[in-house]
Amino acid sequence: MEKREKLYEGKAKIIYATDEPDKVIAYYKDSATAFDAVKKATIEGKGVLNNKIASFFFKLLNEKGIPTHFIKQISDREMLIYKVEIIPVEVVVRNLAAGSIVKRLGIPEKTEFNPPLVEFYLKNDELHDPIICKEHILAMKLATEEEIEKMRELALKVNEILREFMKKQGIILVDFKLEFGRKDGEIVLADEISPDTCRFWDEKTGESLDKDRFRFDLGDLIEGYTKILEKIEKKET
Ligand code: UDP
Repeated sequence: MEKREKLYEGKAKIIYATDEPDKVIAYYKDSATAFDAVKKATIEGKGVLNNKIASFFFKLLNEKGIPTHFIKQISDREMLIYKVEIIPVEVVVRNLAAGSIVKRLGIPEKTEFNPPLVEFYLKNDELHDPIICKEHILAMKLATEEEIEKMRELALKVNEILREFMKKQGIILVDFKLEFGRKDGEIVLADEISPDTCRFWDEKTGESLDKDRFRFDLGDLIEGYTKILEKIEKKET
C-alpha cells in the first residue's frame, strides 16, 4: 500500500489517497480548534494521542459488530480507512447534560438522560453547525428515512459499548459526536472518536479529560488525553 496525493485537509486531519481506490489514509494533526475555530492552537502530540485512541475505539467497535471505515492503525499519526461518502450530519449522543444543551435549553449540567438523547446537527461551518431534526434531513435530501434510523440505531449501540467500556476504566462518557458515511450503499461509522469529539469525566474527581480542557482552559490537554489512552490501553475490551 502506497501513500499518494492529499485529497482533503480539515481542522484536525488530512486525508491522503493510496494506490487502492477504495482506501485512504487519515493523518491526525496537532491542531486544536474550538468555538467555530475562533480559538486555535497547535498542541504538540495531540495528533498521535487521538490517532491511537480513535484506532483503539474503532477496533473495539468493529469487534462488537459495528460497521466502521477503520481498517488499521499504520503509524503513530495515521490510520488506513475505507473511502466513504460522508453524510453531512453530525450525530450527537448525550448521557448527561453538558455543553451546548445546557446553554440552549437551560437544562442543568449533569442532568441524566435516560434513555440517552440523540440529536442531529448540520455539518456546515458557515452556518455554525445548526441543530436540525429528521424532517430537515429529509427535506434537504441529506439522507433517507432508513439511513436516519440506521444512524440513530448505530449511535445508540456505540453509546452502549463505549459507555460500558469506559465505566470499567472509571471514566464517565458524558456525550459524543459521530459522523457516518456510505460505503457500497451501506451506512458505516466514519470520522473519529477521540477526546476531541467526546466528553469524558473522571468518575472519582469529576475532572474533564477531553477537549473542554482546551475550550475552557481547564488544564493541560496532553495530560488529559494521555490519561484516557493509558486507561484504555491498560485493559483490552
Ligand atoms: N462535538 C464535536 N464536534 C462538533 C460539536 C460537538 O465533536 O462540531 C462533540 C463535543 O466534543 C461533545 C459533544 O459533541 O462531546 C456535544 O457537543 P455540544 O453540542 O455540547 O457542543 P459544544 O458545546 O461542545 O460545542
